[in-house]
Amino acid sequence: MVDAAQIEARSIGKKYGNFSALRDVSLTISQGEFLSLLGPSGSGKTTFLTLLGGYDASTSGQFLFEGQDMTKWPAKQRGFGMVFQGFALFPHLTVAENIAFPLKVQKRSKAAIADRVAQMVEMVGLSGHEGKKPRALSGGQQQRVALARALAYEPKVLLLDEPFSALDKNLRGQMQEELRRLHRDLGTTFVFVTHDQEEALALSTHIAIFNHGELQQIDTPDAVYERPSNRFTAEFLGDINILSVDASDHGIAGTPLDLPMNAASFRHVAIRPEHMRLAGVGDAIQLPATVRDRVYLGATSRLLLETQAGEELMIYHANGTSLPVPDPGTQLHVTWAKQDSFAL
Ligand code: ATP
Repeated sequence: MVDAAQIEARSIGKKYGNFSALRDVSLTISQGEFLSLLGPSGSGKTTFLTLLGGYDASTSGQFLFEGQDMTKWPAKQRGFGMVFQGFALFPHLTVAENIAFPLKVQKRSKAAIADRVAQMVEMVGLSGHEGKKPRALSGGQQQRVALARALAYEPKVLLLDEPFSALDKNLRGQMQEELRRLHRDLGTTFVFVTHDQEEALALSTHIAIFNHGELQQIDTPDAVYERPSNRFTAEFLGDINILSVDASDHGIAGTPLDLPMNAASFRHVAIRPEHMRLAGVGDAIQLPATVRDRVYLGATSRLLLETQAGEELMIYHANGTSLPVPDPGTQLHVTWAKQDSFAL
């Protein structure tokens, strides 16, 4: 069978002195993927990107590119595009000169460079700004120049390290849209570092979740969100209700329940708040709980509940329906569809 992986990381490790910044990270990236490296600060995302780009050497493990061992290739030989957090534009060069820079390094002809620069300026929506210096541009425009420069020589892979972290919320949203469009139009492989869960979920075809230098899970956004493989991933990606399973009857808080899979093999059952609701007559699962607090959020109210075992739950309740939002102190039952719960 033909190996479809464009990039393969095999047991990558990185030590700084005695400190392990990355441990045994193995993953594959297919051509055209938009892979986000997601994790809290210090989890090793930037370190992994830096090693992938060839800007630093791993302590152990191998990188393959299209089946070839590229572990010892310097950054230049890998030829991946790179967009950094702080843009890193040349301040004394104009927009056009910044974009032309990597093409000049490649010694392309003047005419070819002029054509390509014009094309890139158009692609990132900077027509009319070609002659400006970076300081005369807004943050979003500077980031567009950085993108255009990194994409100018058509790298097979574009690496992006938190490119939008310096932008305000609105501009960030706009740039995310543009990045999606660029990715769709170009079909280039993007590897994108972020610590923002929503950004990763919205942009990526795949997400790799890091914690303490270890890869926790790599899968599609919906798979990591709906089927996290461990508690860290479940909690890092969004609000989650986690309930202890009784060892004796495999129920929860003294209530025998029809739990997913083999209840003997796990200790917790997890349900995202949007999948949990107040139980009605006829719902198979009926877990007793008491309302502790409610927070009005406009379209919905967030209810904080407590089970009989003292565990906290969160659910969302639509406002303005015939079903009134219960007051604190109310005893009720919550339910969920079995297929929306998973074992942890
Ligand atoms: P952030 O979102 O804050 O950028 P990150 O997930 O990208 O975090 P890294 O920058 O990869 O994390 O850092 C991983 C760990 O390695 C951190 O604990 C960091 O302090 C450490 N580290 C990174 N670079 C070096 C270095 N050159 N020397 C020593 N330690 C380093």
